Amino acid sequence: MFSTQAGAATFSDVGDTHRAKDEIYYLATGKIANGEKDGHFYPDRQVTRAEAAAMIGRTLQLNGNQVNTDFSDVGSNNFASGYIEEAAKKKIITGYNDGTFKPEKPVARGEMAIMISRAFGYGATTINGAAKQLMDKGISSGTADGSFGTSLPIIRSDFSVFLARSINAEMRMDGEQPDFSTVKYVNADALNMRKGPSTLFDPVTQIPQNGQVKVAYMIGKWAYVQYNQSVGFVHSDFLSDSQVDQSSSNIAGKTIVIDPGHGSPDTGASGYGLLEKDVVLDTGLRVKGYLSQTPFNVLMTRETDKKIELSDRVTFAREHNADIFVSIHANSYKGDSSGTETYYYSAAYHNPNVDASTALATYIQHRLLDFWHLPDRGVRNGDFHVIRENTMPAVLTELGFIDYKSDNDKLKSPYWRQEAAKAIYLGILDYYYHYKNYNDVLPLYDLLQAQPSTKWY
Ligand SMILES: [Zn+2]
Repeated sequence: MFSTQAGAATFSDVGDTHRAKDEIYYLATGKIANGEKDGHFYPDRQVTRAEAAAMIGRTLQLNGNQVNTDFSDVGSNNFASGYIEEAAKKKIITGYNDGTFKPEKPVARGEMAIMISRAFGYGATTINGAAKQLMDKGISSGTADGSFGTSLPIIRSDFSVFLARSINAEMRMDGEQPDFSTVKYVNADALNMRKGPSTLFDPVTQIPQNGQVKVAYMIGKWAYVQYNQSVGFVHSDFLSDSQVDQSSSNIAGKTIVIDPGHGSPDTGASGYGLLEKDVVLDTGLRVKGYLSQTPFNVLMTRETDKKIELSDRVTFAREHNADIFVSIHANSYKGDSSGTETYYYSAAYHNPNVDASTALATYIQHRLLDFWHLPDRGVRNGDFHVIRENTMPAVLTELGFIDYKSDNDKLKSPYWRQEAAKAIYLGILDYYYHYKNYNDVLPLYDLLQAQPSTKWY
């Protein structure tokens, strides 16, 4: 029933006959459970409290960026510190009275039951209550003596089994059936139902706008739903209590073209061993990652390192009837300039969308200043082919100077490129919200737990 997805990891110590194979590979597909660099999963190793927090945190898509926590023994160097901090805030996990978390301490089965109950809202208040819930739901059987074994340590394979079954009721043993009773309607154009609660899982089917689904439970922001004969997960941002008046849906199916500059053999600018073509492609793909979770249709002029003529980038956007066009670049100048600038084109006899382009550039620039924190070189008029010759609102952002050390440090960092992608995504939303007055972008801010910006333009 649960075939391993193409491209998913394989572990040399979890073969075809391993009893927890389905569950371990299910979690690996969602990058909820990972192996070690040596290609092993170590299914028989005891789970530490840090590992448990990380796996639950990844399941709920909490922010895993490493931070200093309130626990005296979990600093930002701990791989799970972000998840520990976030899960503690949500009261899924707790520390000890002496202010420590004891991240390396093995987790006992009872502790795990409580964590799962809190993470998925089962509502147990005691370890025994939580253990009984897991058994009633068919998530866990007891130990050989018929008890739950609350004080026994739990190994990675068993933890994986319990976690996978908690996430996906199709993997459970006989027990209480999930109650698909809450009726919702899909508010996106065509919503993918997936095998698990993130976009890393393959689609099961697509649900059209206003399709009626029945929700059984939530895993973070993902709803476990039934639609016709299919069951799977959809992001709850795209579910509403009532049907969409289709005449009022402004963004569904609107096409956004993301244009990473340059491409082999044209490297663009370079500095400190870094090539513009590579960093702008990676940033563009991260922007796509956000937009593809929305009702927008997102297209990229390139998704690999290849040469594309400037005129072909424009033709591509026109032929796909793009609603906006966002080109991503990095600058260089003698190694002595720093900062972010975003361009529009101001001569209306070419691209007539001067006002809209200026608005889009303004919102993207402001978000970049907020998230990316390089000096402000402003929203500027620039005579670049891809924004001059296009026929829709079009902007070109220069993230920073690749030949200037502090800018280069950001451009080479995956963490910072993700921040830049967030900024561009939110800048696009701000444009639609403030400039186009499209209220149906409002739920899309939830993806980053953000709010609309100040009305800059
Ligand atoms: Zn460039």
